[in-house]
Amino acid sequence: MSGASIPWYDDFLGVAYRYFDLRMNAVPLFSDRKKATDLWNENVHWWGDHDIKMRFVETGDQYWFIVASETRRPDHNLGFFKLLPKSEHYTRFKKGHLGEAYLRFATYAPKEEKDVKGDAVCNCTHTKDDHDGKCRHESCNCIKFTTFELRLLKKKKTITDIKFLEEKDVKDDSVSWNCLYVNKYKNA
Ligand SMILES: [Zn+2]
Ligand SMILES: [Zn+2]
Repeated sequence: MSGASIPWYDDFLGVAYRYFDLRMNAVPLFSDRKKATDLWNENVHWWGDHDIKMRFVETGDQYWFIVASETRRPDHNLGFFKLLPKSEHYTRFKKGHLGEAYLRFATYAPKEEKDVKGDAVCNCTHTKDDHDGKCRHESCNCIKFTTFELRLLKKKKTITDIKFLEEKDVKDDSVSWNCLYVNKYKNA
């Protein structure tokens, strides 16, 4: 019943939030495709959709991304978490998820300006053609075109247990308490 023994894993790059296939997707990003596939197959694959908890614990300008299942294969399980800066994509996800999201893994690789076409989109949301060194949009303070390639792994899970919390509230939520206790309070 208690998830006291979940080991926690945060050796990934970050989380992307995007619309794919009608639902919002929360997408942990990895640099290595084999690593991502192995972690999925060894852990997430065994989780029942209804047992998966996705938590966002906000603390100042940052938040803890947490996804775990406490009930499946207790001896052979990992929870995933990452302390991340709040971002526009995060805010959009928070407002737009409507209580459901897909969890997928993806690989993330930076791309050089010379390797992409004119309609490629910069991290500032404007296209390569809009850049002349820096971005030409008046309101944009981007000084250099930067982009990346996101390659989604095919497998996905549907998450329906999603909560946004303040850090002061984690004591009332076992999975986020477990995560912050192990990764923050225990060693503080
Ligand atoms: Zn830009
Ligand atoms: Zn721009």
